[in-house]
Amino acid sequence: MGMRERCSVLMQALRAAGRARRRSLLLALSVGVACALLRVAAGAAPEWTERLYSRGLYPWFERGLSFVSGLSPWSLGELGLLALALLAAVRAARVVRERVRGTGRALELACAEFLRVLTLASWSVSFYLLAWGLNHARLPYAHGSGFDMRPAGAEELEQATRDWLQRARDARSSLPENADGTVAIEGDFEQLASSVARAWSVASATDARLAGSRPVLRDGSLSLAMKLAGISGIYWPFTAEPHVNTLAPVPQRMFSALHEVAHQRGFAREDEANFLAVHVGTLSGDPALAYSVALVAMRELHRALRSAAPERARQVERAIPAPLRRDIDALNAFWAPRSAAQRAVRSVSTKVNDTYLVSQGQRHGVASYGRMVDLLIAQRRRLTAPASPADSSPADSSPADSSPADSSRVDSSRVDSSRVDSSRVDSSR
Ligand SMILES: [Zn+2]
Repeated sequence: MGMRERCSVLMQALRAAGRARRRSLLLALSVGVACALLRVAAGAAPEWTERLYSRGLYPWFERGLSFVSGLSPWSLGELGLLALALLAAVRAARVVRERVRGTGRALELACAEFLRVLTLASWSVSFYLLAWGLNHARLPYAHGSGFDMRPAGAEELEQATRDWLQRARDARSSLPENADGTVAIEGDFEQLASSVARAWSVASATDARLAGSRPVLRDGSLSLAMKLAGISGIYWPFTAEPHVNTLAPVPQRMFSALHEVAHQRGFAREDEANFLAVHVGTLSGDPALAYSVALVAMRELHRALRSAAPERARQVERAIPAPLRRDIDALNAFWAPRSAAQRAVRSVSTKVNDTYLVSQGQRHGVASYGRMVDLLIAQRRRLTAPASPADSSPADSSPADSSPADSSRVDSSRVDSSRVDSSRVDSSR
């Protein structure tokens, strides 16, 4: 059979399969296109997206999904993926069986499956955008926080790195150590989830933008696969479930849990989720969380300093005390790929994530994780700026642990929901 004949047979099979499911496919594609247009409109009007979606509709979606997910003891996201994989295997097996039997229906069946996949993909994109994805187009967190986002010079970057090094050192001094000298943080995953939920409740009491329902945190059963792919956590927006890689050293686990909950609270951008993890962990009053986020903040700042002013970075490096050094080495050892195959998996996974982030309007892709540094610097500027008489607030007088929240922005209805949240913190699921 020539190329042209093959194409014509394929088109005929597609047409035959399409006739049977034209209506469902057309409906799915039309809704998909409408949602994609909505995404474009949302990107063009971030103020409206913030008001109508991120602080309007989204909290209702999040509450509904979290409620449903909270009813299940297992991750609905993982169960859904498993069901999808099984379904795909069964359907593919049917096509193969027809092919082996030589009934001549294999091609038509394969086309029907292809159109089913297209229909499902279209519904998934629509659901993703409506249930969470539009948050990519909301106003930047810095916008509502009065942050000065001008780039930092080497001097300021070094000072900020040293500040966070000091905070990490202070927090570490109250924590016990394992036999190998790394930080020992007691507690199982349930306790970690409770600490993280409590921390977000504390932070949302002074900044209504951070409010949301009690997170349905999951210990990822695919943690090994996540480790190989270099993934410390995943937020599954279809079920509002933040998943954490439970194999990672505890400081990483705590940071990732806080980061994934930032996504649940509607902060889709990676730099903002990283920054909010640090902010919420610092406000929490929980030494383990405070240490975990200070360690990450210090490392990110140090990384930025290394590329901006290598000599200054070397000087800061020499000031890192041995206990912190051991924790950093443990983190590096955990994430280091051990073979060429692991490196290949890691680079594919990074590429996929980069493509996804760019497609969602985060133009810096995976580099945006490190851009939390800009937010940390901006917050530091705001907290250390001398208070003008007209702008004096308790937040300005206590640089270390205060919130940059503007109390005039606190919306009472959202504060109530954060109270509900905190009263549920200690109840078992
Ligand atoms: Zn993230």
